Amino acid sequence: MIQEGKARLHIQIPSIVSSRMPVFYNPHMVINRDMSLLVVLASVGEGAIICDPMGASGIRGIRFLLEAGAKKVIYNDINPMAVEEFKRLIKINCVDESKVEIYSEDASLLLRKLRGFDYVDIDPFGSPVDFLESAILSVKRGGLLGVSATDTAVLSGTYPTTCIRRYGSKPLLEAEFYHEVGIRILIKKVVEEGAKLDCALTPVFCYSYRHHFKVFLRKDIGARRADQLMRDIGYIVYCSKCLYRKALKCEGMINICPICGNELLYAGPLWIGKLWNEELITGMQKPKDRLILSKETIKLLSKVQQEATKQTVGFYTLSAIGEKLRIGSFPNLEKFLPLIEGVRTHFTGEGFRTTLSHSELLKRLGSLSLRQ
Ligand code: SAM
Repeated sequence: MIQEGKARLHIQIPSIVSSRMPVFYNPHMVINRDMSLLVVLASVGEGAIICDPMGASGIRGIRFLLEAGAKKVIYNDINPMAVEEFKRLIKINCVDESKVEIYSEDASLLLRKLRGFDYVDIDPFGSPVDFLESAILSVKRGGLLGVSATDTAVLSGTYPTTCIRRYGSKPLLEAEFYHEVGIRILIKKVVEEGAKLDCALTPVFCYSYRHHFKVFLRKDIGARRADQLMRDIGYIVYCSKCLYRKALKCEGMINICPICGNELLYAGPLWIGKLWNEELITGMQKPKDRLILSKETIKLLSKVQQEATKQTVGFYTLSAIGEKLRIGSFPNLEKFLPLIEGVRTHFTGEGFRTTLSHSELLKRLGSLSLRQ
């Protein structure tokens, strides 16, 4: 018997969790489920109508009912064995059956038929691109869409050709913030899919954890709102010699580094706007006590909360500074951060964001290395 949040489930977890399990359940993805509960409670509140079209064991839906006061959960999975497991889960957890609807069909087809959800969670094996259009249509105005992607190697630049084909964007493995580039490409894809339907999907929260990215977006309707959002789609230029980086619109693109004259690399098109809504993150602190969250979720949320105070495009890492700028290793990131007005990033333990200009950062790094 496994306990996750307030829900219990009877599932045998093999030593290697894989999509070949008869009914998929990944204990490490508790963070993914915890965050969806937190985002929905902070944004929509209780009484939400939830659609979990790739529900697998159905643990997420059960938790929405037991912990987040959801009004209704629409569960679906194409795998009939998963549906049977979900029915067992309803019994084990004494869930009110009138609050649940169960389907077993292709998620895209189901989402085309059903509309008006407060929250839809897209959580496939691999890339979510196939499901985006129907998911966007099924979320109601003001509702939320949660999108998981486990093809992080594609989005982050290990397979650039696949990324261009699947997401229409060039990733940037050469930059120390390649995971952030991946999340920004994923967000751009959702924003673009929404825009073609005259929907504006604004990112409100996201994170990268182990092998997955998760982004949450709030839906609004209207061609003008969609056009406005598209203004935050652009490119990142990056200098692999001096670490200069800048977010630019297509019309302002440059290809020579203004600091060192090196040829610039680029990523995009991608989302260059804000990754987090600070008000929502503050709201996510409140339901923390009523939910049973994993320790990792609490740690990750607190890191992201700090990070969201400096929403730069791209971050620096100590190893990139050491290697590319040949500035010796810094004893302790914690002591170093106040000197460069930095905050840690959740993307990597040795990474930080700063709102200092690149040249100002180089100046401060130079004087720090002289002092050592
Ligand atoms: N959301 C689940 C959770 O939090 O535990 C995990 C979902 S798992 C990564 C993906 C699930 O999607 C599998 O159970 C699989 O059977 C289901 N699936 C795959 N393709 C599907 C499709 N086209 N329509 C509906 N379900 C699908």
